[in-house]
Amino acid sequence: MDVFDQLIDILGKDKVSKSPEELFIYSRDSGAQLPRHADYVVMPETTEEVQRVVLLANREKIPITPLGGGFTLSALVVPNRGGIVMDMKRMDKIIQVSEINRYALIEPGVTQAALLSYLKKHHPRLQHSTPEAPPTVTVVGNCLIQGHGHISPRYGVNSDLVNGMEVVLPTGEVCRIGSGSLGSNWFTRGPLPDLPGLFVGWFGTTGIITKMSVKLFPKPKYREVLAFYTDEVDLIGEGIFETTQLDMLEDFFLISQEKPDWMNHVYFIVIVSGHSEEEMTLKKNSFKRLFREFKGGGKFTFVENLHPSLEKRFLDVPPLASLAADFRKGGGFEYTGAILPIEKTAEAWKKGYEIAHRYGMVCSYVHQVLVGHSIMFGFNYSFNRADEVDVENTRKAIEESNQFALGIGGMIWKGEVGAQKIMLEKMDPNTVALIKRVKQALDPNGIMNPGNWEL
Ligand SMILES: Cc1cc2nc3c(=O)[nH]c(=O)nc-3n(C[C@H](O)[C@H](O)[C@H](O)COP(=O)(O)OP(=O)(O)OC[C@H]3O[C@@H](n4cnc5c(N)ncnc54)[C@H](O)[C@@H]3O)c2cc1C
Repeated sequence: MDVFDQLIDILGKDKVSKSPEELFIYSRDSGAQLPRHADYVVMPETTEEVQRVVLLANREKIPITPLGGGFTLSALVVPNRGGIVMDMKRMDKIIQVSEINRYALIEPGVTQAALLSYLKKHHPRLQHSTPEAPPTVTVVGNCLIQGHGHISPRYGVNSDLVNGMEVVLPTGEVCRIGSGSLGSNWFTRGPLPDLPGLFVGWFGTTGIITKMSVKLFPKPKYREVLAFYTDEVDLIGEGIFETTQLDMLEDFFLISQEKPDWMNHVYFIVIVSGHSEEEMTLKKNSFKRLFREFKGGGKFTFVENLHPSLEKRFLDVPPLASLAADFRKGGGFEYTGAILPIEKTAEAWKKGYEIAHRYGMVCSYVHQVLVGHSIMFGFNYSFNRADEVDVENTRKAIEESNQFALGIGGMIWKGEVGAQKIMLEKMDPNTVALIKRVKQALDPNGIMNPGNWEL
């Protein structure tokens, strides 16, 4: 039997395709990277089906690229060497929510929107950390790329909120990690050897996650958006430090856009939440005082009547980022998600303008401060998908932003293959050798999402 027939034998006709129309969709994503080819797409429904496909691929040495929502924009789910795209969307069960232990055990196809609405209906006092991404992206995909959600500035990046997982190894064994390896309660990740790190941040190159337990958090009754702006870029670092030093916020963005004019400032967007009106009043007044008195006063302006569209954008969970991303209405958007030390924010802010202008673009920023130790600095490029020059310019601008971020001591989050390469080239050679050894031990035939984290 050829590979296609073997896949049908495992999954049935409805869950396997090699039709050019369907492969077209899986050969590209919404970012600016060039399309690449896929040979088959499969949509398993159970761990056993995943396992059987993996055993086949390992035997025949065929690449597998796991796909959740496919929205990283950096083509991480577009195969580099053809083979099978494993679309996880049919594995979409919310298996268990433990209210008292505050976790949800889910399958990898569960979308952000599905978990959000499930919790709203069945556990209204709990919430999970929801990224500012399209609602169809998966919770698991986001945790695996070390993404961040609307409560990450308070609780940490989403990969830190993982209690454990079930994973099909590239050689076919099914393995449980965290407290779920000892029983049926998935409430914690340790104290144990911290194995989730073998799969988090690896872009599907070390195994396929078939279950994940994620932490849930109390959902406050009230939320409000406060906006302060300044035109003194050099104050950004200290401003972030003092804002997070108060230890009272839920979410924290820095935003700016050259057009319309009223958005052309450095905006500090602080989202506060609380369980009582008194708590909210205390928090709001504390931030207003902080910015009023910052460096002797007069440096920041409080926005009394925030534009309703901006207010809604930040109050919604998930926020309306996808609309904002396509602000040029050309259907294209990609960004270098640079993870920077706070102290480098002002320098990056200026550089981002320079790069955008060099490629004839308008500068637009949305950066999320992550707990107060680092910032996700988005060098954002909105482009016209129908204009090849514009798409090419976006790729160049991304490459330049990548190089700049690395040059000032930052990192590139969820970087495309080219970005991964420049990080590996800069990395301590012993660290690179360790990455290679781990990969070789887990995936001796190199079948999992090859091309990623590869020199
Ligand atoms: C407008 C916009 C705004 C965004 N804002 C945010 C934001 O605020 N915060 C944020 O974190 N992200 C953001 N993103 C980026 C991205 O959309 C999200 O991080 C998203 O959650 C990624 O999930 P996904 O399901 O699309 O992952 P995918 O792209 O499907 O997968 C990501 C990686 O994980 C691997 N993978 C997926 N599933 C599995 C599995 N089951 N087993 C093994 N490997 C697997 C894939 O191979 C790939 O390498 C934004 C994107 C857009 C378009």
